[in-house]
Amino acid sequence: MDIQVIYTGGTIGMVPSDKGLVPGISDEEMSKWLNGLMEGSEITAKIRLKSLDHLIDSSSATPHDWQTILDTIEENPADSYVILHGTDTMSYTAAALSFARAGDDTPVVLTGSQLPLIAADSDAGKNVIGAITAAFSPKTKGVCLYFGDYLLAGNRSSKTSSWGFNGFETPLAHPLAIAGVPWRWAAHSQSRDTQPLPWGKPAPYRQHDVAMIDLVPGITAQRLRALLAPAPEAVIIRAYGMGNCPSVEPGFVDVLAETVASGVPVVISSQCQLADVALSTYEAGRVLARAGCVGSADMTLEATYAKLIFLLSQGMNSEQVRQWLEKPICGELS
Ligand code: ASP
Repeated sequence: MDIQVIYTGGTIGMVPSDKGLVPGISDEEMSKWLNGLMEGSEITAKIRLKSLDHLIDSSSATPHDWQTILDTIEENPADSYVILHGTDTMSYTAAALSFARAGDDTPVVLTGSQLPLIAADSDAGKNVIGAITAAFSPKTKGVCLYFGDYLLAGNRSSKTSSWGFNGFETPLAHPLAIAGVPWRWAAHSQSRDTQPLPWGKPAPYRQHDVAMIDLVPGITAQRLRALLAPAPEAVIIRAYGMGNCPSVEPGFVDVLAETVASGVPVVISSQCQLADVALSTYEAGRVLARAGCVGSADMTLEATYAKLIFLLSQGMNSEQVRQWLEKPICGELS
């Protein structure tokens, strides 16, 4: 069995510099470290390493970087993949990879670490061993994220801690597996959404202008209008609770209705991490549905954003975007 490790940057391979932590571990050093890690391991797979040409802090990642990872996977055929990635935007990348690879069960396991691998007390070794163990297991399907002790569905994950060794969670889905002796696998880890998708090989990710706006108590229609100028290609409104907005603020809903009418999809998400957006519940949400906005149901913010970029990259119009937002592509939505 061949496992292809793809190193994209992130804290895991960072070194201190006078500007702060920056990617700096060479290919040879990373290879040596990986070999050392696997010494004496029961995993019999052949592990190859490929470092991307431009290693980045994942806070600089763009949809082009998602595509580079997808292309690198294609160019390096293997039985499974481990992607070494910065933690800051790892859940966005995981969601993006899952949409582009929907229907393909080949394991792609993303991981990273809170501390560089050169730090004495780093979590890098444990996370990479866990990710390789997951990639080696026939139980792992599709795009997942391994961190701390947990194997998670990539497109349901969020970075929930900037410091904890269990820094990722799937707030609205159970973990796929918990590491231990032996690993404990959830029954649902084996059941994958296999609905047929109308696109064959998806078009590559391209940069799209998708805005994300957080509501705050006291936000005015004027401020909202200003935040939407010039008009983006789509907008995610981080509303309250089940998807409610200040419906009594004069003109507020009108701004969103005009935005929808101009062909810009408006997606209503929630500031709650444990959210299931249901616009029909309150008057303060129903007005948004009437204005043509679409709720993100229980998708994470990361999955909602990556899905919009995916759908726009497929050249869909606003009506098609709207329809696909409400349909699961690969388990991102209950
Ligand atoms: N800023 C880093 C990154 O996302 C954080 C990390 O990897 O933990 O690349």
